[in-house]
Amino acid sequence: MSDETRLIHAGKTSAPLAETVGPPIQKGSTILLPNAEALYDDANYLTYGRAGLAAQSALQAALCELEGAEGVTLYPSGIAAVAGAMLALLKAGDEVLVVDSVYKPVRRFCDNVLKRFGVAVAYYDPRTPAEKLVADASAQVRMILLESPGSLSFEMQDTPRIAALARERGILTCIDNTWGAGLLFKPLAYGVDVSIQALTKYVGGHSDVFMGSAAAREPSLVRKLADGINHMGWAVSGEDAYAMLRGLRTLPTRMARHGASGLEVAGWLRDRPEVAEVLHPALPGAAGHDLWARDYTGACGLFGVILTPAPAAATNAFLNALELFGLGFSWGGFESLALACDPQLAVRKHRRDYGGPLMRLHIGLEDPADLIADLRRGFDAFKSA
Ligand SMILES: *Cc1c(COP(=O)(O)O)cnc(C)c1O
Repeated sequence: MSDETRLIHAGKTSAPLAETVGPPIQKGSTILLPNAEALYDDANYLTYGRAGLAAQSALQAALCELEGAEGVTLYPSGIAAVAGAMLALLKAGDEVLVVDSVYKPVRRFCDNVLKRFGVAVAYYDPRTPAEKLVADASAQVRMILLESPGSLSFEMQDTPRIAALARERGILTCIDNTWGAGLLFKPLAYGVDVSIQALTKYVGGHSDVFMGSAAAREPSLVRKLADGINHMGWAVSGEDAYAMLRGLRTLPTRMARHGASGLEVAGWLRDRPEVAEVLHPALPGAAGHDLWARDYTGACGLFGVILTPAPAAATNAFLNALELFGLGFSWGGFESLALACDPQLAVRKHRRDYGGPLMRLHIGLEDPADLIADLRRGFDAFKSA
């Protein structure tokens, strides 16, 4: 044979592969099938690489363990996971009730995409009692999308109660559980139908990979979510799945540290004269603490802080004086971050007057004493601005 042919057929993998601790990162669009019958036998063979190879399957199996799920679908980002679950489970004519404190890009998807395809969207106040929320739902309501604690403002919802009441009415519940990361709160065990998270945050843990997941127990939902992925043509790479799985190995260890350091910093902040309120459901006495104590086994490092009334110049001076906290939008990584929230609150339907600027902190894996010293620097700048 000529070199052209020999080079195309040379260098194939010799099976079986040596066993390593992590899965192999397979790369492949084509999957070679053992015989002609297997070509159209989707029941017994993986026939195309887009469905995911070794690293993706290993990650899915591990996430099933974490979430207590029958099936987990992977998406190229957290926002794609929320959008993907909604697209897979809703149709024209349906209505979805979305918590008003939802992650802002989810609202953008609902308003710009779902509505365009004939799905009605209504935003409910996170403080609405579960009974009223479900009793007031119209006959068209097919899904309630929760996020608890809410993005930026950290309202806790009575998720198990909402899930139980919604189930009685045949309404699906989906939750963005990025704060709980599938670890601190187990939505499926509390009756929620679909548990969604931005793996980008705590599971990845290193602020360098985008991915999202949707987990379900009910086989028909698992199937619909998987079909949704297939219809949309979404896929995640083996390299990214491998990185996520590596993050997952240390999730509980990292989370314990994020949670403990977060509470230490939150407790210190609560006693500061520049702080009006700390929005951290795991902090005793804070709003939502009873629900957190009932349903959660721990805390992550993300919480809100309402400062005493001050002009934007003072909050900017506070942020600009921080040396250890980065200024940025993500969270869940090893590093501490801070941002001002007020510009993001204007889109909300049920706005609340916080009486002062709302800030969000992510407490990373640094020594909390060093972080407190950094915040003290911030407050010095805040006071003199
Ligand atoms: C970051 C985030 C998302 C989206 O995750 P991406 O991977 O950035 O798309 C969704 N929900 C919440 C609560 C988030 O914080």
